[in-house]
Amino acid sequence: MDFKPEYSWEFLSCDEIQAKTLRALRNHVKHVKEVSPYYRDALWDISPEDIKTIEDFQRIPFTSKATLAEHNDRFLGINPRAVVETVVTSGSTGKPVRFALTANDIERLAFNEALSFHSIGINPDDNAQIMVSLDRLFIAGMAYYRGMTLLGANTMRIGVLPFEMQKHYIEMLQPTVLVGVPSFIKKLGQELAKANYDTVNSPVKKIVCIGESLRTQNMELNSTGQAIEQLWGAKVFSTYASTEMSVSYCECEHQLGGHAHPELVFTEIIDENGKVVPDGTPGELVATPLGVEGMPLARYRTGDITFSISEPCGCGRNTMRIGPILGRKSQMIKLRGTTVYPLTITNALDALDEIGDYIIVLENDDSLSDRVAIHVAATPASVEKISNHLRAVARVNFPILISNTATIQSLRGATRKKIRILDWRQQTLAN
Ligand SMILES: [Zn+2]
Repeated sequence: MDFKPEYSWEFLSCDEIQAKTLRALRNHVKHVKEVSPYYRDALWDISPEDIKTIEDFQRIPFTSKATLAEHNDRFLGINPRAVVETVVTSGSTGKPVRFALTANDIERLAFNEALSFHSIGINPDDNAQIMVSLDRLFIAGMAYYRGMTLLGANTMRIGVLPFEMQKHYIEMLQPTVLVGVPSFIKKLGQELAKANYDTVNSPVKKIVCIGESLRTQNMELNSTGQAIEQLWGAKVFSTYASTEMSVSYCECEHQLGGHAHPELVFTEIIDENGKVVPDGTPGELVATPLGVEGMPLARYRTGDITFSISEPCGCGRNTMRIGPILGRKSQMIKLRGTTVYPLTITNALDALDEIGDYIIVLENDDSLSDRVAIHVAATPASVEKISNHLRAVARVNFPILISNTATIQSLRGATRKKIRILDWRQQTLAN
């Protein structure tokens, strides 16, 4: 497979993208009804000819994470013999879900990541070090690897290794691009600097960050993003993806939000009532991945809160962008009638060097406000500073409980992702 970005929809006009999207959505409805036992039933009263506008498509029912888990096998759109790879979602927010991929699905993922990395300016002159898990049934590392090699970059599958080993390979392989989790890349930079490795003048020029937001709601770099750029003398690019969506939203060289790849996904941001919200207004991201064979989905509610950005980007792409993930919909914090986004609090806590580790515990009672306690690995002397900082930056007043790294880790439990929020509230939301 050759990578030909000029064949993608990225640089088409908004009108052309809209027209192609409508045709793709109509075909998608036809496709899922033909191949997926779940959608054959769920969309029994809808025919592709009914989809005359994008608004018509937006009337078909959503698919939730819970439905996908409950009817997992009924989403399979192919003969099981066509499955060439199985992956499993992390299960950090509910029951893990099995996903089946065909050979074409893997090529599609590679094309998606190649488009994303191409928009950052990565090319065959680059040496890219991938520092996320490439096994354990995890889709992302495999997709990054496939995308980098399709683009022609020299790709090094480092995976998850201790700092010492990462340092060894960085010195040996001289990467120009790193792909990894922001908090890990920040820590790695600090450890290397301590060991007298000149990170600022190292060949690393581009860092692709996954799993944690790099920006504030105002689209400024958060403290982790700033620290990484300073430590490494490099530019950071945020990318957001999930197993279910089989697509990534990645920032381009202008670093102004993650571009959607419209030929691979139709994106909506919706409010509590399922209505599309205007640009800049936070809502739940709903994805309809296009061109998927193994387990095609329609109007899949990701449970992640972000906002859309449609104003033109300096890169010339006319595709919709998304802002940082402000939190999980189920983890929104209610305080006397207002909503606090988890990202506001985690950004504020991440900015303080006094805090070694932390976890935010949410509880509720009969009142309209949630109860929030923040357990921090820090010295008792730093409590006042942490409280004052949270009040000034996030405008919240939460109890700070001094703890230690081991206790916080035991609260967190054994999870693949480093969770920051522990939700002990009685769940009243669908997701
Ligand atoms: Zn752009």
